[in-house]
Amino acid sequence: MKIPVLYIVIPCYNEEEALPITAARMAELLDEMTRKGLIDEKSRVTLVDDGSRDRTWEVICALNAKDKRFEGVKLAHNAGHMNALWAGMRMVCDSCDALVTIDADLQDDVNAIYGFLEKYREGCDVVYGVRNDRSSDTAFKRSTAQGFYKLMKKLGVEMVYNAADYRLLSRRAVEALLSFGEVNMFLRGMVPLLGFKTAEVYYERGERVAGESKYPLKKMVAFAVEGITSFSNKPIRLVTLLGFVCALLGAAMAVYVIVSLVAGHSVAGWASTIMSIWLLGGLQLIALGMIGEYVGKIYMETKRRPKFILEEYRK
Ligand code: UDP
Ligand code: MG
Repeated sequence: MKIPVLYIVIPCYNEEEALPITAARMAELLDEMTRKGLIDEKSRVTLVDDGSRDRTWEVICALNAKDKRFEGVKLAHNAGHMNALWAGMRMVCDSCDALVTIDADLQDDVNAIYGFLEKYREGCDVVYGVRNDRSSDTAFKRSTAQGFYKLMKKLGVEMVYNAADYRLLSRRAVEALLSFGEVNMFLRGMVPLLGFKTAEVYYERGERVAGESKYPLKKMVAFAVEGITSFSNKPIRLVTLLGFVCALLGAAMAVYVIVSLVAGHSVAGWASTIMSIWLLGGLQLIALGMIGEYVGKIYMETKRRPKFILEEYRK
């Protein structure tokens, strides 16, 4: 097998503090892997600046000027983590044999890439990095993340438990992934849909090297909603089920009302009337909200907007 040209794609959003450390580690890794004959000399690290507001792009340009193995892709605005990854993959797809995506904060152990490459040599097209320990995350992040994986499984979405966006994809896997036309992207759910021969490599997840998490609670919730509604129509079925239950309750109510009427104490129905108004009103609102979620998705898909807008690609 030919020595692969490996591209490491790193999305960066306001990562000026972490980048110098990450870049130094990546340069070391490339040196070592090239020396060991594991990757081709043409291998690169592609840093995708996701519309940062700090000096991230300047840092990337400086790295690129100093060492040609660092490439920079600048997105014109903050397109979000998934879109930044997508942009990076799109830009490097034609130059690489395989690519690894990894966060800019070195929370994921870069040594796992050796494992990824080994699996790649064994013929795997998709290799997931799976964290075998989450002790470095806060208890809150850990429990919400675990709850999310469980919920997704219940909803019938195939996902690799505890695998984040740290993975290796062969060129043909990337090409397949890039052929997905959807605008609402949830890569963790999309990659398992690819098929191909896959493997998992376990690693320990550490702390962020510098800077703060770019995923505040608001973004985490948006991410989870995105994942659920992009992949599952079970919530909408739940609404239908709820509708049936309500209809049944309503029928029972009707019987009760008629019986009360015949018995001659119909005025006494005030409490039950008010209760059903509230109950039904609430349920209808929930149902509308859920339907709205999907209609919103259809709206976004029909627009066929580009996933990212490229400002610059420094090779
Ligand atoms: N990120 C991005 N765009 C965003 C938010 C985050 O490109 O809008 C990048 C960020 O720079 C990092 C990765 O996505 O490389 C994961 O973010 P972070 O490490 O902050 O998330 P956490 O590990 O806290 O879940
Ligand atoms: Mg992180």
